[in-house]
Amino acid sequence: MDAGRMNLINKRAILKLIKERSEISRSAIAKVTGMTPPTVTRIVDELVQNDNLVEYVGVGDSSGGRPSVVVRLKNENNYIIGIDLGATYIRGCMVDLNASFISDVQIPTEIEKGFSSIIEKVIQLINRLISRKGTEAKIWGIGIGVAGLVNSDTGIIETSPDFGWTNINLRKELENKIALPFFYDNSTRLMALGELYFNNKTKISDFAVINVGYGIAAGIVIDGKVVKGHAGFAGEFGHISVDTCSDVICKCGMKGCLEALASGHRIASLAKNSITNKNASILRRFCENIQDNITAEIVANAAKEGDLVSIQIYDEIAEYLCRGMGTLVNLLSSEVIFIGGGVALNGDFFFDLVNSKKSKYLLTPNLKLQILPATFGEQATSIGAVSLVMEKVMNLEL
Ligand SMILES: [Zn+2]
Repeated sequence: MDAGRMNLINKRAILKLIKERSEISRSAIAKVTGMTPPTVTRIVDELVQNDNLVEYVGVGDSSGGRPSVVVRLKNENNYIIGIDLGATYIRGCMVDLNASFISDVQIPTEIEKGFSSIIEKVIQLINRLISRKGTEAKIWGIGIGVAGLVNSDTGIIETSPDFGWTNINLRKELENKIALPFFYDNSTRLMALGELYFNNKTKISDFAVINVGYGIAAGIVIDGKVVKGHAGFAGEFGHISVDTCSDVICKCGMKGCLEALASGHRIASLAKNSITNKNASILRRFCENIQDNITAEIVANAAKEGDLVSIQIYDEIAEYLCRGMGTLVNLLSSEVIFIGGGVALNGDFFFDLVNSKKSKYLLTPNLKLQILPATFGEQATSIGAVSLVMEKVMNLEL
């Protein structure tokens, strides 16, 4: 191996270690990596002076001998932008290398106005985020998450049922307008990448993030890697069958799919059909007696106030979700399932329900499964999109 290649590998290893430890002394880096102290000093100096990714913090304690210089990632003026291009909202954030928010913006997608309006909104949103940085700051890149089958190499959205898009070249549209590197991936897979990169509390390598909104999908992580699969389509968790007797037809054409039976869309539709039920008085009040006003969120609010019909609906969808999660966890032996998306924003009410039912569908070794809200809440996809860029930064590819 040539010296340049070796240096790059060592540099990546040191950068990764500094990120993992938040702060670490040069002597500790030498100890952990097995590199010699002069090599560590030289590489750290490069990372500080040339790459501008690391900074000296001061001098740390040392057990005997000379005190050692402590370093950390340089968050100041090193920023990344993440965008969640969703069917209801476009959300974006600008964060530092530690995923601390510098700014965030959310605007309605207004999907009915069509493709060029959506592109215009994304550009406006990026410009608003960028306008809040100082002149010294560097933006390393922009990550974008979209619901659907996204080719992360070409930036082409091959299909997106939410938007009704096929073979849309998002990259071409955006890169002509904004001179920064762009990276793209599927929004749910990005939720998983975000947990992998920036969830500092639970250092886990086998988990899934389930996105329960108007559709249902999963981002699956095995051995610390996000699974893509042969066709890049892994994680279509919404299309496993959870009720073979069901007559409900999914948009994929099959019957009994989890997405058809437990999505936000299903919650609203069940509630709309029950609006005249005598036990739905709170629901009726919350939607002002107008069927079309009913959303999954209104049903959740009614359930929390004790509306019996709404409670019954959430109970039913929680049952289906647990059946689906049981299948997933028994297959993969995941340690944690994070739930994100609109339906998961209903807090304790929803998580208590799911937690009370999960054990029915889990084999004994998997009973330890934890079910938690996605760490970054409604910014889960944006932070995942940030991780897409962060991965490149940490690999020194930008
Ligand atoms: Zn389906």
